[in-house]
Amino acid sequence: MTRHIFVTGGVVSSLGKGLTSASIGLILERAGLSVRMQKLDPYINVDPGTMSPYQHGEVYVLDDGSETDLDLGHYERFTHSPLTRDSNYTTGQIYLSVINKERRGEFLGKTVQVIPHITDEIKSAIRKLATPGVDVVITEIGGTVGDIESQPFLEAIRQFSLDIGKENCLYIHLTLVPYLKAAGELKTKPTQHSVGLLRQIGIQPDVLICRTERSLSHADRQKIALFCNVPIEAVIEEKDKDFSIYEVPLSLVEHGLDELILSKLALDASSPNLDDWRQMLHRLRNPAHEISIAVVGKYAEHRDAYKSIYEALDHAGMHHSAQVRVNRIQAESVEQEGPERLLSGYDGILVPGGFGERGIEGKIEAIRFARERGIPFFGICLGMQCAVIEFARNVAGLAGAHSTEFNKDTPHPVICLLDEQKKITDKGGTMRLGAHPCMLKTGSLAASCYGGDSVYERHRHRYELNNVYRKQFESLGLLVTGTSPDGALAEIIELAEHPWFLAVQYHPEFKSKPTSPHRLFAGFVGAAVEHRSLRGERV
Ligand code: GLN
Repeated sequence: MTRHIFVTGGVVSSLGKGLTSASIGLILERAGLSVRMQKLDPYINVDPGTMSPYQHGEVYVLDDGSETDLDLGHYERFTHSPLTRDSNYTTGQIYLSVINKERRGEFLGKTVQVIPHITDEIKSAIRKLATPGVDVVITEIGGTVGDIESQPFLEAIRQFSLDIGKENCLYIHLTLVPYLKAAGELKTKPTQHSVGLLRQIGIQPDVLICRTERSLSHADRQKIALFCNVPIEAVIEEKDKDFSIYEVPLSLVEHGLDELILSKLALDASSPNLDDWRQMLHRLRNPAHEISIAVVGKYAEHRDAYKSIYEALDHAGMHHSAQVRVNRIQAESVEQEGPERLLSGYDGILVPGGFGERGIEGKIEAIRFARERGIPFFGICLGMQCAVIEFARNVAGLAGAHSTEFNKDTPHPVICLLDEQKKITDKGGTMRLGAHPCMLKTGSLAASCYGGDSVYERHRHRYELNNVYRKQFESLGLLVTGTSPDGALAEIIELAEHPWFLAVQYHPEFKSKPTSPHRLFAGFVGAAVEHRSLRGERV
């Protein structure tokens, strides 16, 4: 019988529910269990693909092409749970499906209601993951308890334990225990209120995970236990980590969360083996080198906009025993202040993906700077497209070269719409999405980084390199070293005459894990370490 763990959040948003859920997944996997992860998001968009990164951070793309919440990135980085379309549902998707059924006449004349029709649809989304052989499904409910939008989801998970038996379900509530400076103490009242809200709708949490700046005393835990109606051993502290998010699972195990979950769900498992995780953190804490990377993007001020890229850089840093200092640079500032002022002194420059014209010229200038100065450069998606535009204008002499995304009338449309995109008008879920094969050119930098001749990487784009210009660019030293199997789509470009200049049309950051860094990120960070040491010698 598959057990179900439900993770809810209270008091405030951004408590790190995704990270905590991912950590629980990791702990259970390392105890020898088969785990599946899922996120239910109460907003009405069908998926986050149409949202600006300002709203919801990065859009995380899965192999199957679904555009999902960035918490799924944590799930993939921490666990081996296969993620698919069924791993992320939103209110929009649930309603869409119920409304389609109603239009097909599947409700046989009934009035269609939140309870039971919407809640049934939510429960069936949860049950989809409980396939034979799966020991535990972890379902994270987005939003904060008390939000109007979350209610059908909370009602559905309440009913779930009636359907499959209370002993097979575990409700974990993540809450905030703030420290009030003026009072000089931790305050438990917000937690009492948020658990109160949950109990009002019939959910008694089994475990409380308390986010806090300071350690909880025994008396604090006792008080929370009493007022929230849980045993004291089920009040688990999760203190802020100022060093690394990868510490979270270790600290949860230190506070006994593994034993608590295994015993409450009567799961027969060993105690989790996290030795490699500890070694990884040891490497992170004791770097042999330090490098600095500039990420030049449109949303530099937003921490979550390129989340997986920052994570992948950290993974690659651990691989090289290098501390990677990342500076987020607003592309528009490069336009205003010039690359010399903003980008001198970096060991690598990365231009990430994106949409829209704002900051494009700044990205192009940053790439020119990296190309001319021999600074390691890594371009991702729009970053690759900008590298092509830069090369076209400044090496091939094609004045005014551009992408038709930004200038429909450019004299040199070096980046143009994919053929398959030409008739599409809807914006949601219509890009070239998900994992596609890419063939690597023997002897190229890409092939040497990957150590093979083909890879599968995840895409999310509408535009591509215009093949009309390919021969001309190759003759001038911009090599296409990765293509779709039929050779039609340029997926990787690199510069022959440069220490490390590589750009990809896909998103390698989605496939990097702390325990197995993505090979292109490892290559880039390795080149940055090299650049730093050469720079050191020159000084
Ligand atoms: N806007 C570009 C395109 O649609 C790049 C997309 C991206 O960087 N994800 O092709």
